[in-house]
Amino acid sequence: MGGTADALRAELGGLLGAEHVLDAPPGSLYNFDASRRRAVEGRADAVVLPGSAEEVAALLRWCYAHDVPIVPRGGGTGVTGGAVATQGGVVCSLERLRAVRAVQPELWRMEVEAGVSTRDVQRLARENGLMFAPDPGASEQSQIGGNVATNAGGPHALKYGATGSWVMGLEAVIAPGEVVTLGGWARKDVAGYDLKALLIGSEGTLGVITAVRLGLLPAPEEAIALMVFLRTRDEGCAAMLDVLASGARPSALDFLDGATLAMVADGYPGSIPADAGFALLIDVDGTRAEARAQREELVQLLSPGAVAIEQPDDRGGLWRWRDGFNPVVTAVRGAKVSEDVVFPPEHLAEGLAGLERIGERHGLRPCAWGHGGEGNVHATVLVDPTNEREVDAGEAAAEDMFALVLSLGGSITGEHGVGWLKRGRLAGQWDARAIELHEQIKHAFDPKGLLNPGKKLAR
Ligand SMILES: Cc1cc2nc3c(=O)[nH]c(=O)nc-3n(C[C@H](O)[C@H](O)[C@H](O)COP(=O)(O)OP(=O)(O)OC[C@H]3O[C@@H](n4cnc5c(N)ncnc54)[C@H](O)[C@@H]3O)c2cc1C
Repeated sequence: MGGTADALRAELGGLLGAEHVLDAPPGSLYNFDASRRRAVEGRADAVVLPGSAEEVAALLRWCYAHDVPIVPRGGGTGVTGGAVATQGGVVCSLERLRAVRAVQPELWRMEVEAGVSTRDVQRLARENGLMFAPDPGASEQSQIGGNVATNAGGPHALKYGATGSWVMGLEAVIAPGEVVTLGGWARKDVAGYDLKALLIGSEGTLGVITAVRLGLLPAPEEAIALMVFLRTRDEGCAAMLDVLASGARPSALDFLDGATLAMVADGYPGSIPADAGFALLIDVDGTRAEARAQREELVQLLSPGAVAIEQPDDRGGLWRWRDGFNPVVTAVRGAKVSEDVVFPPEHLAEGLAGLERIGERHGLRPCAWGHGGEGNVHATVLVDPTNEREVDAGEAAAEDMFALVLSLGGSITGEHGVGWLKRGRLAGQWDARAIELHEQIKHAFDPKGLLNPGKKLAR
């Protein structure tokens, strides 16, 4: 864009201060998110760092008046290319919106601006004796606005729900450039359509979230983790269904298949039985008495079929091990293609078997782990990034994974969203009329199609 981009930056500098308008040459971090390994690169003409909701509104008004795309950006930890300006235009980075507007522990709530990191939200809650339950993986770097925009989940979403469950209200800038408040502090509110819910998980395609009102919970008195080792995938999946049916309410019910277990075994803070071919990582929490009673219940339920059940002393260490799977698995061949697909829980065993066959059919090493209680799987094939055949085979395997998931009534994404990489795939999952409504909602919020164009496209 050259000269035109210079002119654009000069104009935006006049509007919001030249020091808050950056160039984004090729290779700039602002042209990538965590999908970088899959070759998603943006070409932003400018990166703008507004300092308030009003400045975001001024920016959106300018973009709307000049037909320039605007791409909201949080911490850039998304893995689908959502925060990347694939069609040029302005990246609107929320990193300067970092005020904590209110913390009210006695009312179990807080209000923070969109650029506050997930970790800081969790810390603020903890320092006040409370808990912000969502625990997505990249919490140091991700922002609460990005978490809301992707409706991020985590292992403990099984009991506590994803980010959206804790959003009481939102402040957002919507086209053509107005600050609106959606929802509030009322604990029940059925007046009107739930516009707030439309913004949650909208991936920057309906508006720019500038502040969030969050509900909090009293922190549980005790949490206990269990590792349950089983012989086979089928036994492991049956055990997860037994846990769900038992009436126990684990806060997390994660699994690792045999291939993943072998790759991450070295870091496990304990010893993995030789005949284990599948494992469950279960968390229970509540008052001390509740947590212990649940542990006993689960041990009794699972002991007959398990190879071993361990309760590691260092629960934190166990979860840090779990949080590290991603880089360890990636390092085995240098890269991987991993999709966060979801199977209905009763089809998880069939789904995992199908994923393994897909990997093998494409000549790649498959593995899977994830949030089994919700059927949410990191469906993975390992690839050598320097081997073109493997890279192509990885993408072809992903196609087959999506087809499998849809054939079993699942979803193409349970956490990471659609973004750029999965654009158009919703059409395989929803009815034609529902797709039309999806598009009409986009049009109602963004008639010029300038908010994060090309992302979360239904078809
Ligand atoms: C190591 C690792 C672990 C991860 N673990 C998890 C996990 O456990 N669960 C999970 O759900 N995800 C996970 N993710 C994915 C990612 O961290 C989440 O999607 C996170 O919520 C993105 O937040 P962000 O601030 O980085 O958003 P970005 O990546 O900057 O943006 C993501 C999307 O949200 C939009 N957006 C961002 N901020 C705003 C805003 N203020 N207003 C409007 N739109 C906005 C962007 O346009 C983009 O479409 C993981 C990623 C990594 C790299």
